[in-house]
Amino acid sequence: MKNTHLLGPGTVVSSFGPSPTVVEDAGILWEGERILEVGAFEELSIRHSGAQLLNAHGGMILPGLVNLHHHFYSALARGLDPGVRMADFSAILKGLWWRLDRALDEEAVRLSAALSLAECIRTGCTTVFDHHASPSFIRGSLDLIAEEVSKAGLSAVLCYEISDRNSHQEALSGLEENLEFAASCENHLRLRGLLGLHASFTLSKETLRVLVEKRPPDLGIHVHLCEDAADRRESLRQYGEAPLERFDALGLLDRNALLIHGVDLEEGEYERIGESGATLVHNPESNANNAVGSLDLGIANRAGCRLGLGTDGMSSAMLRALRAAFLNRRASTADPSLGFEVIPKLPANNAERAAAAFGLEQLGRLEKGAPADFIVVDAPPPTPLDGANFFGHLIYGLSEAGCRHTIARGRILLRDFRHTELDVEKLAAEARELSPALWERFGALSVGDD
Ligand SMILES: [Zn+2]
Repeated sequence: MKNTHLLGPGTVVSSFGPSPTVVEDAGILWEGERILEVGAFEELSIRHSGAQLLNAHGGMILPGLVNLHHHFYSALARGLDPGVRMADFSAILKGLWWRLDRALDEEAVRLSAALSLAECIRTGCTTVFDHHASPSFIRGSLDLIAEEVSKAGLSAVLCYEISDRNSHQEALSGLEENLEFAASCENHLRLRGLLGLHASFTLSKETLRVLVEKRPPDLGIHVHLCEDAADRRESLRQYGEAPLERFDALGLLDRNALLIHGVDLEEGEYERIGESGATLVHNPESNANNAVGSLDLGIANRAGCRLGLGTDGMSSAMLRALRAAFLNRRASTADPSLGFEVIPKLPANNAERAAAAFGLEQLGRLEKGAPADFIVVDAPPPTPLDGANFFGHLIYGLSEAGCRHTIARGRILLRDFRHTELDVEKLAAEARELSPALWERFGALSVGDD
């Protein structure tokens, strides 16, 4: 029984799907990477008295959260003054992000990943889809990030952001990095690859031609789509086609595709995304920060789009992002009756997308045989809770409560609010030492101009 663990007692919610099973005074028994049993805590503790106990203190025991769009590389931008006016979306890219990513070297990429992963653990995210860019260190960057993912103990789907914004050579290098990494982890337990693309307006015809030629058919794209009107405007100006139309014509829209943002979609495009089976990923906090507007979840939902949720590098906190999505839905429509019709689908779809990526049907469910990915949110329910009103508890109570424990593939990564494996204080100290030089390189780079 030495490697058998028992978590509880707490309220177990079986999944983020519609009408989950909710069991009070429950526990989870697990061994290695899999859940052995979910049931009444007292009964489990009698039958498995030799199991190592992890006290849930009556908290909410939920499946580990999934983030469908993150940028680990943004971790060292905190407090950085770009020194130029952020007048619009293009100015934000050229003045901040495209300078920061060019300034990243190997060590900065490593530390950014480690810090972001630590935040994922602290906020209960056990599977994260990252979209990486470091034009001065492309080849080998995904392996380096994967090493940090392995050290952290999480599951991740990684990709490199292909773009012609600096040069065609860099775009090709990015493509090779994606292809090589994805092939190397096809059967990995906790890693997968996707084909990362920046956005239509920075991808040349030639790059997309080579990409389509070399893409294995089941390797999905992970791309920013219509985050701002600039994507459509520039794609039409340079290539004579709108972003979605371009990707569609090349056969890149399929059920493995992750389309990020969709703020500036037009009539007919939502339906096309719905038909394709691609996942359209909402990033409410990032959209608000960039003042670009936000995805119309109502239209997208009615058009049959599969909708997901990400943080886009703004933070790693998925429950907070979920609450932001909920509040934005009401604020942007001025309709307080909305929110519950679509927002609950987001965490459920995120879990489904992660399950598909890893070929693990049970990922995201707390049941016998499922991967041991679960968290304890420190919010013992003060009112009646069942499958029907769980989402109300999630939005109004849990999103602001701390994550007490994070268990990923059976490893306890956060125990009583403290990291068990990562030394965050040391990582932050290393980052503070490295950041001034990174910011200096950033400052020396010119603001990109067409
Ligand atoms: Zn993004």
